[in-house]
Amino acid sequence: MANQNQAVILVKRPERDATPDCFEVQSQALQPLAAGEVRVAVEYVSVDAGARTMLLGEGFHRQVPLGGVVLAGAVGRIVESNAEGWAVGQAVRGHLGAQTIATLKPDLLEKVDGDVGPLSLHLGLLGGSTGVTAWIGMTHVAKVQPGDVFVVSAAAGAVGCVAGQIAKKAGARVIGIAGGDRKGAYLTSQLGFDAVIDYKSQDVASELKRLAPAGVNVFFDNVGGAILDAVLDNLALRARVVICGAVSQYDNMGQVQGPSLYLRLAERQSVMEGFAYFHFPESIPDAKAAISQWIKEDSITLPEEILPGIESYPEALGFMFSGGNLGKLMVKI
Ligand code: NAP
Repeated sequence: MANQNQAVILVKRPERDATPDCFEVQSQALQPLAAGEVRVAVEYVSVDAGARTMLLGEGFHRQVPLGGVVLAGAVGRIVESNAEGWAVGQAVRGHLGAQTIATLKPDLLEKVDGDVGPLSLHLGLLGGSTGVTAWIGMTHVAKVQPGDVFVVSAAAGAVGCVAGQIAKKAGARVIGIAGGDRKGAYLTSQLGFDAVIDYKSQDVASELKRLAPAGVNVFFDNVGGAILDAVLDNLALRARVVICGAVSQYDNMGQVQGPSLYLRLAERQSVMEGFAYFHFPESIPDAKAAISQWIKEDSITLPEEILPGIESYPEALGFMFSGGNLGKLMVKI
C-alpha cells in the first residue's frame, strides 16, 4: 500500500462556478493507525450534485472547511484495521471523502457485498444518494399511480434516470427534461421514456402543453429555478411536486430563485413536498432490496461515467454542472 494519501483539498470557496483553482490535490503522509481505526483504499469516489453546496460557507447539509478534504461518498476496501469486526479486505461504503486513502473510525462505514458486481454499483444503483434516493422519493413522496403523467428534471442524471424507470414500472407516462440530443436519445431508446424535452433548445412550458395537454400529475424536480416554474404552470388538478433537489441553484445558495408560480398549487389543489433520503432510514434496506431484485431481473439500469484518477475530481464537478454526465458520475482511483 502507498504510504501517502492523495486528497482533494478545498483551498478557495467558489464565488460562482467551482473552478479548478478552488482545489489542490495534496499528498499527505499516512500516520500510524490509532486504536479503533481502519484504513480504506478508496476505489470509486461519487460525484454528487449536492457536493457543490458543501463547498460554500453555508448551505444545505454539511460544509467543507477551507483547507479540508472535499466531502464525498466513496467505496473501497479495508487495507489495515485496528477495529474489531472490520477485517482487511472488507468492502465498505461511506463518507470517505475525495481522497485515495481514508483513515477513520468505522462508525459511519457500511459493509457492502464486494461480490455483487463492481464496487461502483454501491454508489450508483445501490448508492444512498442515487438509486436509494430515487426509490425513496418515488415510494414515499411521488406515489405514482398507473396512467399518471410523470415528469422528471435532470432526467439523464443519476437520480433522474432511476426515478424515470421506477415511474415506468408504476405504469406512468414518463416525460424527461434533459439537456442535449445525446441524453434525449438515450432516455427514449434505452430507458423507455415516452418523451423528452431538451430544455437547452426547447421551451419547457410550451412543450409540456403539447405533450401533456391534460396536465402533469407528478413532477420529480432535481433542478428548480425556471424549470420548476414551467412545470408548475402545467400541473393537473391534485398534482404532486416532489422537491428532490435544485441543481440550477447550487452555485448561488445565498439567493435561491424561488418558484414565482407557486400559486398554481392553490389553483390546482396540488402539493409540493421535499425530502432527503436520510429522512427515511428505515426504508433504506427496502430500497436496496427492491433495486437489487430489479438488477437481478435485468429490469433497471444506470449508465456510469467514470473519470480516471483523484486529480480529475475538480474537473468532474465542472463536467456535471455543465451537463456533461449521462447517468452516474464517479472518479476511479
Ligand atoms: P446528476 O443528475 O447526475 O447531475 C446533475 C445534472 O443536472 C447534470 O447532468 C445536468 O444535466 C443537470 N444540470 C446541471 N446544471 C443545471 C442547470 N443549471 N439547469 C438545469 N439542469 C442542470 O446529479 P445527481 O447527483 O444525481 O443529483 C440530481 C439531483 O438530486 C440534485 O438536485 C441533487 O441535489 C438531488 N439529490 C437529492 C437527494 C435527496 O436526498 N433529496 C440525494 C441525492 C441527490 P443536463 O444536461 O440535463 O443539464
